[in-house]
Amino acid sequence: MESILVSSCLLGRPVRYDGRGKAVHDELFAQWRTEGRLVPFCPEVSGGLPVPRPPAEIVGDAAAVLDGTAQVRTAAGEDVTEHFVRGARLALEAAERAGARIALLKQGSPSCGNGRVHDGTFAGVSVAGDGVTTVLLERNGVSVFSEDDLLAVQSLLKELEK
Ligand code: SF4
Repeated sequence: MESILVSSCLLGRPVRYDGRGKAVHDELFAQWRTEGRLVPFCPEVSGGLPVPRPPAEIVGDAAAVLDGTAQVRTAAGEDVTEHFVRGARLALEAAERAGARIALLKQGSPSCGNGRVHDGTFAGVSVAGDGVTTVLLERNGVSVFSEDDLLAVQSLLKELEK
């Protein structure tokens, strides 16, 4: 059975910057949970950041963060890049340990976003882009989806389990 690495907050765990979760209420998601496929992981907490914590945004893009040429910062300018990169590496290790080829990660997050992130100005503006963990997982062959793409996850599961 295929495992799915999943953002802990999507399971309702209170690990987000604001001390809350963001539970997904969906039949497919509940089914995967019951089947024991879901491997919860929070890159930011595992990377050493507290709950709650100041929100952070990528200044530049996530690939450049991993390559050491861009940063993740809070609105006050604190550089939290090291925590984000460590969290991404630990997420990859967790996926590899579980044999997960699929990840289901929270849209819009500077770690977990896949397709959309904030623009680094703290003005509430979303732009096309991925989070730091998403980019590292994808570089290593893990297919990353958001909570908006559950049907696509289902299709890939069927494909991988043929
Ligand atoms: S880092 Fe990912 S798992 Fe952790 S709270 Fe943010 S979106 Fe959720």
